Amino acid sequence: MEKVNRRIRTRFAPSPTGPLHIGGVRTALYSFLFAKKHGGNFILRIEDTDRNRFVPGAEEYIVESLNWCGIMPDESIIKGGFFAPYRQSERKEIYQRYAEQLIADGHAYYAFDTAEELEALRMKTEREKRVFSYDASVRMNLRNSLCLPPAETEKMLKENVPHVIRLKVPAGETITFTDLVRGEVSFNSDLVDDKVLIKSDGMPTYHLAHLADDIEMQITHAIRGEEWLPSAPAHILIYRFLNKENEMPQYAHLPLLLKPEGNGKLSKRDGDRLGFPVFPLQWKDPKSGEISMGYREQGYYPEAFINMLALLGWNPGTDQEIFTMEDLIRHFSFEHVHKSGARFDPEKAKWFNAQWLHRKPVNELAASLKNQVEKQGWFNAAFDERYFLKAAELLRPRVYFDHEMAESGKYLFCKPTGYDEKVITKKWREPLRSFFQVLADETLANIESFTAEQVEQTFKSLAEKHQQKTGDVMPLLRVFITGAGSGVDLFPMLELLGKTEVIERIRTAIIKI
Ligand code: GLU
Repeated sequence: MEKVNRRIRTRFAPSPTGPLHIGGVRTALYSFLFAKKHGGNFILRIEDTDRNRFVPGAEEYIVESLNWCGIMPDESIIKGGFFAPYRQSERKEIYQRYAEQLIADGHAYYAFDTAEELEALRMKTEREKRVFSYDASVRMNLRNSLCLPPAETEKMLKENVPHVIRLKVPAGETITFTDLVRGEVSFNSDLVDDKVLIKSDGMPTYHLAHLADDIEMQITHAIRGEEWLPSAPAHILIYRFLNKENEMPQYAHLPLLLKPEGNGKLSKRDGDRLGFPVFPLQWKDPKSGEISMGYREQGYYPEAFINMLALLGWNPGTDQEIFTMEDLIRHFSFEHVHKSGARFDPEKAKWFNAQWLHRKPVNELAASLKNQVEKQGWFNAAFDERYFLKAAELLRPRVYFDHEMAESGKYLFCKPTGYDEKVITKKWREPLRSFFQVLADETLANIESFTAEQVEQTFKSLAEKHQQKTGDVMPLLRVFITGAGSGVDLFPMLELLGKTEVIERIRTAIIKI
């Protein structure tokens, strides 16, 4: 049922109940990509009808997260738009209207059963080893407007006896719809309960509110998490009962993000246990004060975060792994969204960041490196702009995050304070002392143009002359200069440090060891 004539409109409809899980960000991303690919609008709607679960700050967090990711809504609580307001708590009358129409047409009813009554029934059914469901099989024995005398219902309504409005799900029907990810899906209506549409506080449930708003806001594609698939048949019925089947958006139920081990939904606990964030931004719980880490604060680039998320559950059909937002918009389609859950891989997340780090303009990295070096107190006037540019170029292939550069390349700014024992034990022999002495005092001292190539050439020919294997003397040279057994490319590093510094470090090393 492709809606050819309607402009594509998708929405992301989070509930402000806490920080946004990365699975939610992915839902937002796919909705955004799909809308943009088809020249449509992407809407941010806040679903805040569950006042018990409302968490202060969560709405702002959602807005800021999308902003950081570059998932920019065309219509939202901030931007406004033709279909405003975009916060469900401000749209109550609309839901009431929908509920009343369903009641008038005999598709919904008032139910006066108290929470205690329902709980007692639930327990009784459980004792009989069955699951309680408020549905066609039991509804005529309960306290609702379908079985109570009309006068009594009216009286109770007048007296404001607490009640809910429930959907009347017909028995014995097969409900079928086409999901953009899963294809044709069918449900037996006997397994669908009479869902509450309006709660006793007068607020709509998700089932009614999202649907009324999707109609009102002319949403063409409702893209949401797989956890809503079991509710989909009830939603299909409501569209049918409202005579709005032709305005029903196409549903796409996205697969879950799974734990790194592969089974079960990725949770905050997995992140805490394995040391990675499951939220885009850092979040401070307003009640407990507990802080949860965020991708932004860990040093991820939004580009890398988005790139990683896009590929968790979708593939372009080629080997391409690096995508800008524009690329994603161009390539995205539901055809390549997977039906099964996507295993989250924290190492791959870091890998994506490294890929984006390699693509950053080097002057940006150099400025950041300078900042880090200053903060560490390692700065001196010898480090000019050129120095930082070269250093950033050398360091970037060796780190996942921008903020790791200074620490990982400390030896470019500070003399070593010790020498890696493992390399010394393995490679150092006393006769080598004279080799390094000649290297420092004569060979390197006599090089006129101290370039990586020149240094490499003279070093290698000296080694040959002294019948030393480069495999032995090169690791030692590195340790003498940096203190460590591994690091950035050796000869370009020597060029950067410069003749005086290199000679001095070798001299110090052979005195110290
Ligand atoms: N408020 C719902 C949620 O947060 C939205 C689901 C949907 O996109 O329809 O899960």
